[in-house]
Amino acid sequence: MNNVETLANVPEIVRRGAAWYRTLGTDDSPGTKLYPLLGNLRRTGLVEAEMGIPLRALALDLGGGPPEGRELKGLLVGGAAGTFLTPDELDVPMDFGSLRRIGAVLGSGAVLAFDDTACVVDLLWSVLSFFSHESCGQCTPCRVGTAVLLDLLAKVRSGNGDRSVLEDMRRVVQVMEVASLCPLGQSVGLPVGTALEKFRGEFEAHLREGPCPRCKAATEVYV
Ligand code: SF4
Repeated sequence: MNNVETLANVPEIVRRGAAWYRTLGTDDSPGTKLYPLLGNLRRTGLVEAEMGIPLRALALDLGGGPPEGRELKGLLVGGAAGTFLTPDELDVPMDFGSLRRIGAVLGSGAVLAFDDTACVVDLLWSVLSFFSHESCGQCTPCRVGTAVLLDLLAKVRSGNGDRSVLEDMRRVVQVMEVASLCPLGQSVGLPVGTALEKFRGEFEAHLREGPCPRCKAATEVYV
C-alpha cells in the first residue's frame, strides 16, 4: 500500500530517473519529504524539503521560529506517536537514520514547535487523548492502558499526587510497548517517555506546586 506522498514522487522519478532522485536527500533516505510545520511558529503549513534537512532549518528558517518575544521550549517531532525534543537537538538531520540514532522517529515528518508559554503536561494530555480516542479496544493493554495513562496524567495536571505517579506512567507504557497488538499501543512510549525524560521538571513542578494556569483552567472543565 502506498500513500499519496509516495505516489506523487513517481512521475518525476520516471521522467528524470532513479539516479537523479538519489542525488536528493541522504544515502539511506533519498528524495524529498513533506514536513507539516505546526504550533508556535510564525509560518505554519506543509513544506517539501530534502530528506536530511536539519530540524533547525525547518523550524527556525522555513517555519520562522517562535513568535516575537517568545522562546522555543521544545518540539514534538514525528506526529502524536513521535518524540519530544529540546532546542539542544535542533541540529539533528530529519531523516530515518539520523533520528533513529538519537532515539527519535521521522513518523509523519510533522514538526510541532511549542514556545515558553506552552505546558508540556497539557501537550501530553492532548497526545494521550488522541491515543485513547484512536484505540480500537481490541487488546487490553492499549484499551485499558490509554485510560490509565489519562487517569495518571490527570493527577499531575491537577497537582494531586506525588512523584510515584510518574513512575507508574513509565510502567504502564512499558507494558503497552511489549503487550499491545499493533503499533498504536506499542508507540505510546515514545511521546510519554521523552516528555517525562526531557521535561521532567515541569511534571514535578505540577505535583509539587499545583497546576499551572493552563492546566488549572483545563482541569476545571475535564476533571
Ligand atoms: S494496540 Fe492496536 S489492536 Fe490493540 S487496542 Fe490499540 S489500536 Fe487496537
